[in-house]
This record gives sequence, C-alpha cells and structure tokens, in this order.
Amino acid sequence: MEPRSAAEVGKDFPYTARTTCYIEVHEDGTVTHGDDRAAYERAVAGKSRLFAVWPGEWSSHLFVIDDLDEYAKAHGIKHDEERTGLKEHVHDVRWKPDPYANDSPRSPYISVDLTLDCGCEVHDRRAFAAQMKEQRGWDMATSGGWSISGAPGARKTYSLRVRRKSLTS
Ligand SMILES: [Zn+2]
Repeated sequence: MEPRSAAEVGKDFPYTARTTCYIEVHEDGTVTHGDDRAAYERAVAGKSRLFAVWPGEWSSHLFVIDDLDEYAKAHGIKHDEERTGLKEHVHDVRWKPDPYANDSPRSPYISVDLTLDCGCEVHDRRAFAAQMKEQRGWDMATSGGWSISGAPGARKTYSLRVRRKSLTS
C-alpha cells in the first residue's frame, strides 16, 4: 500500500483525533507506536519516519507524516498562533474574581473573569494555561467548564478556574 501525503491534506488532517494512530519506523526497521515529542524529534533528525493510520468508514488509509511542522503545531510541540489564537508574548491580562461564581471557600479553585487586552483570543485552553503558568505561575484548570462571553467584535471575557493558591498576580 502506497502511503498518501498528510501534507496534501493540510490543516484538515486529523492529527489529534483519537482514532488516528501513529506508527514510527526507525532506521533499523523497528516499528513502534506513539506520537510523543521524542518521536517528533527523531523524525526531524531523520532517524525515523512517522506514519499515521486514518481510519475511514470503509477502509483505513496510511499516510506519511511529511509536514512535521504541522504535526508539531497540532500536538502542541510547537506553538501555533493560528490554532490557539495566542501570540507567543507576555499577555496583557486583566482579571477579577467572578462575582457571580458560587465557589465554595473550601474549593481549591476560584472562578475568574479574564480579558486579554493584547488582542489574543483563547481558542485552546490548554495552550493558554501553559502560557499563564509560565508568565504568572497560575495553575489553571484545563478540564471542566469554562465560558466565553462578549459582543461580536468586542474583547471577549473568559470565565476560567484557577487554583486559589497560585493566583498571586
Ligand atoms: Zn496576548
């Protein structure tokens, strides 16, 4: 079976779909599974080749991962402004505790309303949480509910949950 090109599929390629399964073929012919950072680094170094099986409704297709940059962005190994809505800079953040939240005082998390005055938008909460951890030391919840509000064209307000003890700035 001749593999198809993932690069040709472009951004629609389901890099992070749960059903996409990755195969790594090493220099010595060994075949392993997985899509971790180490696999990416080996592929970039030319020490292995990455393939993906994209299961279709009737048959599965084998793809060669020939756009490693796109692969890395999809997996969060490389930052992607387009996917995440977030620039790689120190965000201009305005936040306050959500006055309507019903957080128990014993809850380790507190709800905050947050606006990004730098113009970034949060399309990917996990990526934003990683940036806020780095920039302000926040431990932001990346599971459970969050919400986005705001008029079209206006700055959006994000309702997010942050570990109380980490909210120092
Ligand atoms: Zn920003």
